[in-house]
Amino acid sequence: QKSTETSVDAIIEGLLSGDRTMLSRAITLIESNASRHQKPSEEMLQRLLPYSGDSIRIGITGVPGAGKSTFIESFGLLLCHKGHRVAVLAVDPSSTLHGGSILGDKTRMERLANHPNAFIRPSPSGGTLGGVHRKTRETIIACEAAGYDILLIETVGVGQSEVVVKSMVDFFMLLVLTGAGDELQGMKKGVMELADAVIINKADGGNLELAKKTQKEYKQILHFLQPTTKGWTTPALTCSALYEEGIDQVWEMIQRYMKMTKDSGLLLEKRKMQAKEWLYAQVKEQLESAFFGNEKVEKLVPGIEKKVMNEEMPVAKASRLLFDAFYGK
Ligand code: GDP
Repeated sequence: QKSTETSVDAIIEGLLSGDRTMLSRAITLIESNASRHQKPSEEMLQRLLPYSGDSIRIGITGVPGAGKSTFIESFGLLLCHKGHRVAVLAVDPSSTLHGGSILGDKTRMERLANHPNAFIRPSPSGGTLGGVHRKTRETIIACEAAGYDILLIETVGVGQSEVVVKSMVDFFMLLVLTGAGDELQGMKKGVMELADAVIINKADGGNLELAKKTQKEYKQILHFLQPTTKGWTTPALTCSALYEEGIDQVWEMIQRYMKMTKDSGLLLEKRKMQAKEWLYAQVKEQLESAFFGNEKVEKLVPGIEKKVMNEEMPVAKASRLLFDAFYGK
């Protein structure tokens, strides 16, 4: 261990006593791609695990401009005022491609960020979506151990990342704008099937009436979709994140969901399944990086790829040749 680095013992002790700097250090360790950080990070998580799990994990998605930041700030502040401790994390699909994070760059949620009960962490950058997935899940554990009892995990609604976030939360909600008809033309229906609630935001001023109409449309559509959770009818609510209206109702709804799924045992079952899925996702991710990181495979890939693209070699053969190289045959 280098002397400049805080020891795992010190991080754990500080984190458990609610020291934010130590929580940040823990997350930095989790997010590190350096191989020397892997073991300490694993050890830390093993020791934090008994302190985690006692929280409500909420996923929030929606297209850019839907009002996610505004909503999270209003909602987060409401919860902080009720005495909860709120951690905000983001899964930003763009950061996995460009190494930079749009969500983290904006000065966002300043009021919430300044609240002593809140902790905001921008999206981990770099790596594949799978890598970001792992980091976010591990960060959830660290935040819970640090005493944050509500986790808000935000993602931009562009496709893949919703599935990823859905797989790590108890409750997943979709923030939408008025005009359900247009939205449903595209991939929104797929996302709606993942949602435990649809929240129509910006239901204020001249937009209020249209929002109510949109709510009715969503209710009709949701009526025909398979509910994501047995016994739960996915509600469509309206709110104004900006004017902080209807936010309380969202919280009431989530509490209702949590009580229902806790009492029925569904919540526990869901978390167990999520942990299992996480294990297999992690193994796949590691296999893939071991495979493509293999020196012999790396050497072969460009040539074989070219042959496949030019239809000079069948894919099955190409794949087998790569595996032969991997296994040193
Ligand atoms: P995000 O991209 O989903 O995070 O959306 P933002 O939270 O950044 O909001 C986009 C824009 O919509 C901003 O200009 C907000 O002020 C505005 N906005 C967000 N929520 C509301 C709302 O409830 N009512 C109104 N009128 N505007 C809102």
